[in-house]
Amino acid sequence: MKALTFREKHHIAYDTVADPQLLEASDAIVRVWITAVCGSDLHVYHARETGLDSGTIMGHEFVGEIAAIGKAVRRLRIGDRVVSPFTTNCGVCYYCQIGLSCRCTAGQLYGWRQNGHGLHGAQAEWVRVPLADTTLVKFDTHISPEAALLIGDVRATGWHCAQQADLSPKGIYAVIGCGPVGLMATLAAREQGAQQVYALDTVTERLTLAQQYGAIPLSVANDEWRDIAFAATQGRGFDAILEAVGSSSAVRLAYEMVRPGGTISSVGVHTSAQFAFSPIEAYDKNITFKIGRAPARRYMEQLLERTLQSSYDITQIITHRLPLSDGATAYQLFDQKQDGCIKAILRV
Ligand SMILES: [Zn+2]
Ligand SMILES: [Zn+2]
Repeated sequence: MKALTFREKHHIAYDTVADPQLLEASDAIVRVWITAVCGSDLHVYHARETGLDSGTIMGHEFVGEIAAIGKAVRRLRIGDRVVSPFTTNCGVCYYCQIGLSCRCTAGQLYGWRQNGHGLHGAQAEWVRVPLADTTLVKFDTHISPEAALLIGDVRATGWHCAQQADLSPKGIYAVIGCGPVGLMATLAAREQGAQQVYALDTVTERLTLAQQYGAIPLSVANDEWRDIAFAATQGRGFDAILEAVGSSSAVRLAYEMVRPGGTISSVGVHTSAQFAFSPIEAYDKNITFKIGRAPARRYMEQLLERTLQSSYDITQIITHRLPLSDGATAYQLFDQKQDGCIKAILRV
């Protein structure tokens, strides 16, 4: 089959690779319809995350149809339309039971193979899904494949980011970074009852979309933005900050802009070995800092349901649709934010 593989830093190849096979009785093989390039794929692309085997199939966001199932699979049938979270989940371990599905003791991240072990990704014609019954979520024809794809990662991650921030209608909040996750966090914050959500970014088209999702856009390219932010919060800073970038500078900014006693909810993938603020700084501001990979699987059914009822179109964040064979171009467009790229998907 055809797939996008990681060769080395800044080199994603459109390769011919072996078709995936059922290895365990609980596996399924999914024929991929659409896959996407995610911000976290860029950490591998830039070698900020290292250790990935050359030849690993990239990607963890996909929708498609069941092409084959192992003998132990009960809930799924050939031809079912399915979406996956970015990790596999057993559904029965302690962490799956408490809703922290991203830390499933049997879970694996798609597109991560190291020293010959791990799971290939989904930027391919087919993908093997371990623990298929408890990982995959079926969706019906009322939901578009593009909307379902977003629910497997960026929509769920944005939802989690807002959940962690303990929002209330009276609070004043900020989202740092209006990429796909930040935009979804903005929408989720509004849906979860926040009335005043400032969206911080430098890119005009991203700020415009944040405004459509109910935020007050605030360009950080402009020198006065901090004055505006402090004036809006009577000089205190924001009650919570939703950090959707995953860099030290974004967390540092969140620390500076959150009010004493406020919460920073951080869902971007971090690769730094140090915190962006010191224990003293955290103590002196009574900060609550919540960080980590989102348990996407936990939220997916409710978000599919919500998509049917919502007047917001989450697929507006998809700016580029390319064939899988143009995968290397999609990485570049997304990475460089060229041509107004917010989210690039690949059709298989
Ligand atoms: Zn992703
Ligand atoms: Zn589990």
